[in-house]
Amino acid sequence: MSSALMNTYKRLDVTFSHGEGPWLIDSDGRRYLDAIAGIGVNSLGHAHPAVSEAVAAQASKLVHTSNLYRVELQEQLAQRLSQVSGLSRSFIGNSGAEANEAAIKLARLYGHQRDIQNPAIVVMEHAFHGRTMATLTASGSRKIQAGFEPLVAGFIRAPFGDAEAVRTIAENNHSVAAVLVEPIQGEGGINLPPPGYLAELRSICDERGWLLMFDEVQCGNCRTGSWYACQGEAVIPDVITTAKALANGVPIGACMAGGAAAEVFQAGHHGSTYGGNPLACAAALAVIETMEAEGIADHAAARGQQILDGFRDRLAGVNGIREIRGRGMMLGIELAQPCGDLVGAALAQGLLINVTAGNVIRMLPPLILNASEADQLVDGVCSVVSEFLQQDAPARASA
Ligand SMILES: *Cc1c(COP(=O)(O)O)cnc(C)c1O
Repeated sequence: MSSALMNTYKRLDVTFSHGEGPWLIDSDGRRYLDAIAGIGVNSLGHAHPAVSEAVAAQASKLVHTSNLYRVELQEQLAQRLSQVSGLSRSFIGNSGAEANEAAIKLARLYGHQRDIQNPAIVVMEHAFHGRTMATLTASGSRKIQAGFEPLVAGFIRAPFGDAEAVRTIAENNHSVAAVLVEPIQGEGGINLPPPGYLAELRSICDERGWLLMFDEVQCGNCRTGSWYACQGEAVIPDVITTAKALANGVPIGACMAGGAAAEVFQAGHHGSTYGGNPLACAAALAVIETMEAEGIADHAAARGQQILDGFRDRLAGVNGIREIRGRGMMLGIELAQPCGDLVGAALAQGLLINVTAGNVIRMLPPLILNASEADQLVDGVCSVVSEFLQQDAPARASA
């Protein structure tokens, strides 16, 4: 492995040469069923013709101009994002962290406009919002923050899923301007909040004049069966951030806002050199068109349910399995013990999965998976999990 790269990732010793739909092919020609999709990025699978053609065509015409000028594809993309989100305006950046940085800046500006001296943002335990200074501070994991102090001021932490805790913060703190939360936590372990939680947060924000901001970088773009996960619960936030699957792998991120929040930024407040360039926007437009034309949200809901049912049939009640959970194609199996070793075991079987939060097997398969590939995924995961739990059974029995 290259020592010319900074040591930021512990990488598996495999490299891929090409892909087809939900399959990746490594440099030795071995095929892998990709159940992580570049961490929820390749939702239309690898080498989707609509995206490949849009990127190739745009690359041969114009890759980049500048936000000094009007960018027609960026205007078209913002229009399409409004249609699917119901929020009126977008800022286009290059990643999830940047989308959240935009949201954080927007919330602070909104606070100052309301004469709050040091506006604060309520964020959640186990949250993940990115690796920049503000977004790692907003994230609820000491592992991500440790060593990078001083952290950014102005964040107040609450337990995820506990609306009462946010009410208590509201009563005791008059500098809050916004709440930032993932409707379903991804890195934190595929954590679904209790029913009604997002609606409760909406009410609190309405009562207090706070912005409700959803980080849908991982759970958005049809993954959970609706364009954005919040739509599955009919809760309309003031801000949604998105990235990951938005352009199927071409770097992009967006911060969308509605109502008063859409009018907060004025010229000079925020920007990005690359953000919303013609290449990235052409890819995102192709993704949105394809997802809509092919009914990808409904497909994700159906295939996701098939996989979840498969796991529950085969693994529920098995010793060592704590919980099987998910919505649509955002799936987690929580084990009673750390299970990072499962990733390598699955790789050896030709299956790409991920482990997050130490003991949660995370699957974010491409949304285009067909029924037979979904069955293969269930078979593959259940077999590596069973093997893993059996291997470990004697050790646990003697512990
Ligand atoms: C991945 C992720 C981010 C960060 O996105 P990057 O593109 O890696 O900066 C932020 N929020 C959530 C919920 C994510 O899953």
